[in-house]
Amino acid sequence: MVRFTVLASGSKGNCTVLSCGRTRILVDAGLSCRELFRRMKLAGEEPATLNAIVITHEHQDHVNGLAVTARKLGIPVYFTEATHRAWMRWLSPRRQMTYAQWLEMVRKQAAERQAEPESPVGEIDSPDDPGETAVENSVPSAMPASADPAPEPSSDQAPSLKDDPTWLPAIEYFSAGQPFSIGDICISPFTIPHDAADPVGFVFSSEGVRLGFATDLGYIPPNVREQLRDLDLLLLESNHDLEMLRDGPYPWSVKQRVLSRVGHLSNDAASQFLAADYDGQAAYVILGHLSENNNLPELARVSAERALLGRASLLANRLLLAAQHEPLSAISF
Ligand SMILES: [Zn+2]
Ligand SMILES: [Zn+2]
Repeated sequence: MVRFTVLASGSKGNCTVLSCGRTRILVDAGLSCRELFRRMKLAGEEPATLNAIVITHEHQDHVNGLAVTARKLGIPVYFTEATHRAWMRWLSPRRQMTYAQWLEMVRKQAAERQAEPESPVGEIDSPDDPGETAVENSVPSAMPASADPAPEPSSDQAPSLKDDPTWLPAIEYFSAGQPFSIGDICISPFTIPHDAADPVGFVFSSEGVRLGFATDLGYIPPNVREQLRDLDLLLLESNHDLEMLRDGPYPWSVKQRVLSRVGHLSNDAASQFLAADYDGQAAYVILGHLSENNNLPELARVSAERALLGRASLLANRLLLAAQHEPLSAISF
């Protein structure tokens, strides 16, 4: 059975559980760990059974609870390499130092290097093959990369969040355009236009069921249209109503950012896709990442309904809205 549960969707946090056969993954971890676990339990999902976390991009509403959740569960995190780096930079703001302090730091590091035997600990391999590059971040090199997909967290290995906020139990890299698998789930990541380091959408497939996942994109370019075909479920961004955004409270620069080709998808743009380019195959269309300031669920719904009504063959599609503050009922296939 394939089960898809959106725990939260919107600029205050994004998180979805996908469960297929024996495999359960989290797509983004934009809620605090505590809230994430609470919502999983509300939705009838058991946090301890998660096998991995897969990240779309490094914006805070997608990674807010990432480090704590991965550490608590001792599970690997799947990123693109650029997203991982951007996430680490976000968590490790540069410190200002004087030249004298910098010299002192360099001397200390050199002395430490001399004192230690050579060790690959902490190195990140190149992500040529996303299937093979299980990279432990500071996990002792004695542990083979392919050992256990969900190693037990060990308190002697894990530095405290304060000492190293970027430490994760295990990291795996994937690249857009290169499908990979986690247990029973096949994952095809594709590039989306958004102002992050290397943002992706996904098509997940398992047991012959295909689920498309595309939020946080400024527009729908041909490569994304191509990916969002032949799906059983489509989660599509319907971020803002153009008039509400234009007349709304955001400063001009933020409005420009949202409206740009690397911003967010408007109700109109989502509907245009549904009316003109969507193949109508999905049993469920879920509208997601609705803005709380610049949209109303009814506006998003009516706009998409109109698009689907214009195509009689699509009336079988069930239209749902993912919410920010409560999980959407699980959808099973
Ligand atoms: Zn977002
Ligand atoms: Zn984003």
